Amino acid sequence: MTKILAISDVHGEENENLYTYLNNNEIDLVIILGDITDFGPLDFVETFINKVADCGVDVIAIPGNCDPNGICNAINDVSFCLHNNIIAYGDAILFGFGGSNPTPFDTPGEMDDDKIYRQVYDLLANYDYVYNSEVPKVKILVTHAPPFNTEADRVENGEHVGSQGIQKSIHEFEPQINLCGHIHEAKSLSKIGKTTDVANPGMLRDNGAVLIDIKDGSNYDIDIISLNE
Ligand SMILES: [Zn+2]
Ligand SMILES: [Zn+2]
Repeated sequence: MTKILAISDVHGEENENLYTYLNNNEIDLVIILGDITDFGPLDFVETFINKVADCGVDVIAIPGNCDPNGICNAINDVSFCLHNNIIAYGDAILFGFGGSNPTPFDTPGEMDDDKIYRQVYDLLANYDYVYNSEVPKVKILVTHAPPFNTEADRVENGEHVGSQGIQKSIHEFEPQINLCGHIHEAKSLSKIGKTTDVANPGMLRDNGAVLIDIKDGSNYDIDIISLNE
């Protein structure tokens, strides 16, 4: 039994509903999907992560494109930065990749999509090499940018702006879940093929969160919930 709550795009704004939810529900791990700050200041990372952890949960985070240089160190000072990293947590195995493909706004945490592809591919391939079917784990790819051409990457005018590198890696490795954020207006739970649930909780300010309830390493429920209900 592992219960995970994912939130995204905090942009330096706390939401009291999150703390109330965590104090009233049994959650093991909170994953923050990037854009923790709004181009800084980095002090907010410690304040925010400590307040979340004070609700009695573990906390893991990745950087977003709107977080400044030094964000991984700031996360590691108080919790664990999952960027370009793999960690086993309960019945889950988490693969993290922060930042985003290029945007029109020239933000700090952007990277060419083929570089994202190579790095995410390497992460997932490394795990496949040591995979042990006797110890089932739900594979969760944790990214800031959503995969291209999904519900999670559609901006207001209907255009898809997600990462083709992340999309390609998902097609090749078929993780069960991809948690992502970045496109604030694209709060959604959808699927890539038959294999992968793609969930974007939207901005924390709008009270969205993704709840994953893993019964054992192969069965799980996933939902988008409202923190204010
Ligand atoms: Zn954002
Ligand atoms: Zn972003």
